[in-house]
Amino acid sequence: MSLVVVGSVAYDGVETPHGKVERMLGGACTYIALAASYFTPTSIVGVVGDDFDPQDADLLSGRNIDLNGLERVPGKTFFWQGVYSADMNDRTTVRTDLNVFADFNPKLPAAYREHPYLLLGNIQPALQRSVRAQMNGARLVGGDTMNYWINDYRGELLDTLKEWDFLLINDSEARLLSGESNLRRAAAKIVEMGPHTLVVKRGEFGALLFQKDRYFSVPGFLLDIVLDPTGAGDCFAGGFIGYLAEQGIDAASGSIDHAAARRAVIYGSVMGSFCCEEFGVDRFRSLTRGEIDARFQEFKAFTEF
Ligand code: AMP
Repeated sequence: MSLVVVGSVAYDGVETPHGKVERMLGGACTYIALAASYFTPTSIVGVVGDDFDPQDADLLSGRNIDLNGLERVPGKTFFWQGVYSADMNDRTTVRTDLNVFADFNPKLPAAYREHPYLLLGNIQPALQRSVRAQMNGARLVGGDTMNYWINDYRGELLDTLKEWDFLLINDSEARLLSGESNLRRAAAKIVEMGPHTLVVKRGEFGALLFQKDRYFSVPGFLLDIVLDPTGAGDCFAGGFIGYLAEQGIDAASGSIDHAAARRAVIYGSVMGSFCCEEFGVDRFRSLTRGEIDARFQEFKAFTEF
């Protein structure tokens, strides 16, 4: 059940209380695709410059990620630099060099258009919409957005969301999008905007799943040590859609099956937690599906009562 992922492929400079890396592979699309690749065949759409290291491409293709939709153009790859607070719950963006990403105009290779699953990473809503329009009969479509698009591109974003089955955002973004400070009311408004399934990510505190009449709340996985939280939200998205694709879940009935959506939220949480255990994408160099399923069972054990 193949998945198409669209978004940034980047180099990141990251500083956390546990260390500093000047330049390493990053980008939302990269993290989403790596996480999803443990569940389902994954194809990416993105753009990189001529400085993109073949070894980074090898890491992705080593996980069987299809790179036919990864455009390579003259210039530099998108660069993002961030510094985390002592408790790592906040981060400050020090530098964003869009470089070749500034002119990103996603074009789907013909073979991608027939894929049933689509995850739209955080890019301009009109571009997300144009990708949606290039797909022929996708079975499940959703994605991510951020405060910048909610504030400054609201109309475009609302048009885009009308065509989505699910939306993954953090709690402050859910409040901003809905204009409601109460999360339950915020969610009730958002599920009327188009995405009938809403996942609100709350960093180390876990996640909430909302559908029309039900919700599900999951705590964060307590790690011994968090080295670098960069990409955790994207890995959550990758685990969430990856699991739904693996199970062949769609929204033909008007919504995503609730029990499947709950399990997808747990797999999302599992993938986000693994991401934090090493800097950048390093955890994905050794991670196995066995470790993922074992942590899924741990979630079951520590939330049961
Ligand atoms: P997350 O920690 O899940 O929010 O994702 C972090 C990733 O998002 C990093 O690898 C960055 O390269 C990427 N990123 C940061 N800013 C942007 C942006 N404005 N547009 C797209 N991707 C970004």
